[in-house]
Amino acid sequence: MYVGGSVISSVEFHGNMSLVFFMSKCPLACRYCHNVELLEDNTEKSFEEIKQEIDSSADFLDAIVISGGEPLVQTDAVIEILTYVRQIGLKTKLDTSGIYPDNLKRILDLDLLDYVSLDVKTTFSKYRKITGANVGFQVKKSMELINESGVHLEIRTTYVPTLHTKKDIMNLVDEIEADVYTIQQFRNKNVLDPALEKVEVPNPHDLADLASEIKPYFNGIVKVKSGEFGEQVI
Ligand code: SF4
Repeated sequence: MYVGGSVISSVEFHGNMSLVFFMSKCPLACRYCHNVELLEDNTEKSFEEIKQEIDSSADFLDAIVISGGEPLVQTDAVIEILTYVRQIGLKTKLDTSGIYPDNLKRILDLDLLDYVSLDVKTTFSKYRKITGANVGFQVKKSMELINESGVHLEIRTTYVPTLHTKKDIMNLVDEIEADVYTIQQFRNKNVLDPALEKVEVPNPHDLADLASEIKPYFNGIVKVKSGEFGEQVI
């Protein structure tokens, strides 16, 4: 399996000490992607190596997070890891773009997930502008599958001032259903489209104001995540 790296984190799965695996590869080309080195990374690890890494820190871990890249490019590998994590009794979280609903359904049907973070990059009909591909319908399908499964769902949008407007976020909130909606601050370092390095990072107070505006229209918790203040519940 292609795994570009791992890190122990207290913030990737709220309230849990987690070991996060960054699975390589992703077919999208989000202009603001800051995991550029993972998109074509060819670092291979065996399941035994992953298992050893989990075992060596399992005593102080609460959870394993599978992130990327897009983890569901390697669905068999993800299932192998999550099945083991379930056996040893740790919690599980998956970060995904949602573009492979059929692969996601395989994992949901096996009851291998406690938490999914789904990136909804813009309204479902405008996906090409951000990702280079018209994949909004697949992402919508993934959202529906997760909601049907009852697994805790957080939807996240990275707010990029030149790619999103306030109206886009208002429209997006009309289209989504989740337990949590998080607006993430765009970072302008190490991004796929060099033109975005000149775009100013949005002010966290402006993001909090936007989150306050959408809150009455979203049936769940609304958060903002910024470099300055970390995660704020609005
Ligand atoms: S931000 Fe986009 S291109 Fe980058 S890993 Fe995520 S889905 Fe893939």
